[in-house]
Amino acid sequence: MSSPVMSAKGLARHYAVGGNLISKPQTLRAVAELNFDLRAGETLAVVGESGCGKSTLARMLTLIEEPTTGSLMLDGKTITKEDWPDYRSYVQMVFQDPYGSLNPRQRISAILQEPLVINRPEMSAAEREAKAREMLSLVGLRPEHFDRYPHMFSGGQRQRIAVARALMLEPKVLVLDEPVSALDLSIQSAILNLLLDLQERLNLAYLFISHDLSVVRHVADEVLVMYLGRAVEKGKKEEIFTNPRHPYTKALLSATPQADPTVKSERIKLSGELPSPLDVIDGCAFAPRCWRADDTCRAARPDLSGAPHEVACYHPVGDDAKV
Ligand code: ADP
Ligand code: MG
Repeated sequence: MSSPVMSAKGLARHYAVGGNLISKPQTLRAVAELNFDLRAGETLAVVGESGCGKSTLARMLTLIEEPTTGSLMLDGKTITKEDWPDYRSYVQMVFQDPYGSLNPRQRISAILQEPLVINRPEMSAAEREAKAREMLSLVGLRPEHFDRYPHMFSGGQRQRIAVARALMLEPKVLVLDEPVSALDLSIQSAILNLLLDLQERLNLAYLFISHDLSVVRHVADEVLVMYLGRAVEKGKKEEIFTNPRHPYTKALLSATPQADPTVKSERIKLSGELPSPLDVIDGCAFAPRCWRADDTCRAARPDLSGAPHEVACYHPVGDDAKV
């Protein structure tokens, strides 16, 4: 296995919420103690329900927000404040909404060249333009698109432009936060295939955020399942899809259409809603919704551990005959 291009160690982000003259603010742990590696040419998919901390993670990885605790490493070196400018070039982000993420008053030519204007002052105007045109063609758009404005494009084309912009500084890592969720189903796979093609050509590491397991099945090498800010299961894609260990993963999978319709699977319905991250219990955060939970689970939080893939559960699925 190649060495990681990027690693996160004990990454966490807390927010102080509420609070006024008489009551203290509460601490909301949007992301807690995440550890993972990203490798060149590979995709780590992060999955979980809305509100589990995925976008907070994306903002930390791209330093839009500073982690509350924990560290980020690039090529085995822990980054410090002095490394932030370089790090920000190496780790770029593609957002979910291709309508909100492009400035409507800028032509595509200006949108693509802006990162170079800011970060590569040594480049001439002609070099910048050549690079932007090259990128436009790499994402499957045509030369005549160069001088148009974002509103003249479809959602899928806009997402191509957002990907091209993210690649202008030749990053090593792309953080993709639900990059196809806002697109029509009919164009999702075209964009996913573009991303896979670019990954192969440019040897990019992807952190791919999605709540949609059929998308994850298509793109991931490794999968990290999050529940209320924490990793509850992590492993190779095949492992997670064929041998899910955490009851939460099992429930997520059972709600996803099967690739093979001849395989019968029981649908597990999760009881209750995702609890507020402000009243997470001492034990396993999933215990209140879990059909396998007992007093052990409610007493202390299980660690993420084990092989062939890691799971944070005292009673993983598959340890007995029960579902
Ligand atoms: P996801 O992307 O998985 O839907 P988010 O990362 O957006 O989840 O949010 C995770 C949790 O953190 C949610 O409970 C959300 O309300 C909370 N949160 C996110 N950003 C902030 C913020 N700036 N201030 C307070 N709470 C926040
Ligand atoms: Mg989100």
